[in-house]
Amino acid sequence: MALDDLYREVILDHYSHPRNKGTLEPADIKVEGTNPLCGDELSIFVRLERGKIAEARFIGRGCSISQASASMMTEQITGKTLGEARGLVKRFKAMMHGQVIGEDDLGDLIALQGVRKFPVRVKCATLSWVALEQGVEEFEIAHTRVEAKATTEAD
Ligand code: ZN
Repeated sequence: MALDDLYREVILDHYSHPRNKGTLEPADIKVEGTNPLCGDELSIFVRLERGKIAEARFIGRGCSISQASASMMTEQITGKTLGEARGLVKRFKAMMHGQVIGEDDLGDLIALQGVRKFPVRVKCATLSWVALEQGVEEFEIAHTRVEAKATTEAD
């Protein structure tokens, strides 16, 4: 089987049998992303436990690349700290923009490399990741404010 065919199989498998599809209530992080160019829509939900991502889920609709990428992302970030998840977002985006990165631990995400040949579809692949990055940032800003307030009140 040619590598491109193998990649296509992996993407279609995640699209047909999405991992972690659904919502989480309550969620510590809830964020939406849209890609108007293609009509992709995603909502990402993350629940934290002791500083790590205990559960990640998504719902959405759109092309196979956007939905498969979200499915892969929820698998890959589960068990990671927010810092580690952010690092993975950076590496994934770098890979999608053609940079050479360490790929040993990327799992199924490697299959999305094939999308680089179609620049208009790169946004489909990165949609869930950009949304996650935004959600993590919003969570950390809100969390920092709460801590700062608590410190002030203690004084
Ligand atoms: Zn798309």
